[in-house]
Amino acid sequence: MSNMLIGITSNNIENKSCIADAYVNAVVKAGGTPVLIPLVTDKAVLENIISHIDGLILSGGGDIHSSLFGEKLHPAVTDYKLERDMYDLALILSATERQMPVLGICRGHQVINVAFGGTLIQDIPSQIPGSKIVHNQAEAREIATHSVRINPESKLYQIVKQNDLQVNSFHHQAVKTVAPGFNAVAFSEDGLVEAIESGEGKTILGVQWHPETMAAAGNAVMIDTFGYFVGEAALYGKAKEIHKKIITLDSHTDTPMYFKYGIDIGKTNPVLKLNPKDFGIKSEEEINYALKVDVPKMQKGMLDAAVMVAYIPQGARTEEASKKAADKTFSILSTLMKQIGKNKNTTGQAKTVTDLQRMKREGKKAILLGVENAYGIGKDLSNLQKLADMGVVYITLCHNRHNDICDSHKGTPEHNGLSEFGKKTVLEMNRMGIIVDISHTSEKTSFDVLELSRYPVIASHSSVKALCNNTRNISDELMKAIAKKGGVIQVCLYGEFIKENGRATVEDAVDHIDYIVKKVGIDHVGIGSDFDGGGELTGLKDASEMLRITLELLRRGYSEKAIAKIWGGNFMRIMKAVKR
Ligand SMILES: [Zn+2]
Ligand SMILES: [Zn+2]
Repeated sequence: MSNMLIGITSNNIENKSCIADAYVNAVVKAGGTPVLIPLVTDKAVLENIISHIDGLILSGGGDIHSSLFGEKLHPAVTDYKLERDMYDLALILSATERQMPVLGICRGHQVINVAFGGTLIQDIPSQIPGSKIVHNQAEAREIATHSVRINPESKLYQIVKQNDLQVNSFHHQAVKTVAPGFNAVAFSEDGLVEAIESGEGKTILGVQWHPETMAAAGNAVMIDTFGYFVGEAALYGKAKEIHKKIITLDSHTDTPMYFKYGIDIGKTNPVLKLNPKDFGIKSEEEINYALKVDVPKMQKGMLDAAVMVAYIPQGARTEEASKKAADKTFSILSTLMKQIGKNKNTTGQAKTVTDLQRMKREGKKAILLGVENAYGIGKDLSNLQKLADMGVVYITLCHNRHNDICDSHKGTPEHNGLSEFGKKTVLEMNRMGIIVDISHTSEKTSFDVLELSRYPVIASHSSVKALCNNTRNISDELMKAIAKKGGVIQVCLYGEFIKENGRATVEDAVDHIDYIVKKVGIDHVGIGSDFDGGGELTGLKDASEMLRITLELLRRGYSEKAIAKIWGGNFMRIMKAVKR
């Protein structure tokens, strides 16, 4: 028996929360510990229950009210209970927000579809009149009465390993339009959707049949379905435990870029209405934007720390413009410090590894300061002392254009690497205990820095060139040199830098981590999302989903110790090395 707690939603019959024994027994047989979730609709109570379990099974039951998917109620729908609908929806959303595995059975399968924006056939007999399939069988519950065709590309196929699966059938409603982000992966002969799963690699599976009653009768495939589910819950439980113990740090977020829209990093912010001109987009229409990093999102994603940078776009290199750039750096960073101060119950600024450790103990989120583009120090090296005093942990030497300090990854070289001023800057950063960040620099600049710097350097948000040929990414040669110097490459979760064509997924990003580990070892890799600076992957939309990376690392056999290094251990080693 595992200690994994599997929550099962209940029916409510005559004011009693209850569930058929078959669900309970199937979970026990698969090695999980079942917990019945009573029907309550208080969201805080449901959230609390979800925070204590490792997997959620949405059980069968009556019909779902059509108001949940914006349709008029069909007259044949009488067996519904709005309370149950609200309870199911709250549980699904809370569980999936945390990356918890969810298995929906019959009604549970339909309610998953509705929760994510799909619709239902409300009454099969009148809406699918010519069907030869009996979807509400008279035979006993453990008897299979029709077959479903399983998509061989699906996760479900990996569980059942059959093209045609014999299933039982007890439903009055069915999935009509499949929710965005989900795939229909099983169909009955009349074309009804019989199973759906997350198309974004999350463990969310809905099946129209009742595997629990067939499992109770000894059906091996149905027992395997629960075995798979309990296994996923075990993985999730392990990921959660690891995140509780280790310090998880994201080394690059551009969230301060949105300060001018009045965001508060300590709260869940409303969808922002961006002015396209601020982002160099020629359009009159406002752009809707959901911020990717804030304290509530970090809490959900179990992310302890994030470096938030003052991003300084490369402008003119005159005395005057450079002075303005420096002013801008200080103004952004002081706003950031004010925001941290305003939210001191939940967050704090970390300047050192000791700060990070203390905040972890206190259960607070740690924000670290960074500067993206050393153009933001102006032409005045004494600004470095001020930045160090403010607690800036690293400075990225340039952005996508050359500056006075070095050549960028883009454009014909101007300095052939680091300029004379750039060399002084690097040495002064060394002296101040500010980490040198070579993301965005040209390869020659990077090698110059590695030769000159007295301490290890980082690429705060760069991925692997061998896997995705982009000038922003790190070549094998450079990777080896960074590692040799004791530095670290923080894989950037930016689609364009992860995969050349098509949508980049969490799995693709973890391929980059794998590559670095195989090439130069576990001590030289980390994660720098670039959230709010363009970073986003399919299945990893923001900081609230960071646990997914850990889940994928666990699937690939990474140990807790290795995961701790990737998630912050290596970055903290560099912080200490530069005497932070
Ligand atoms: Zn950035
Ligand atoms: Zn960047």
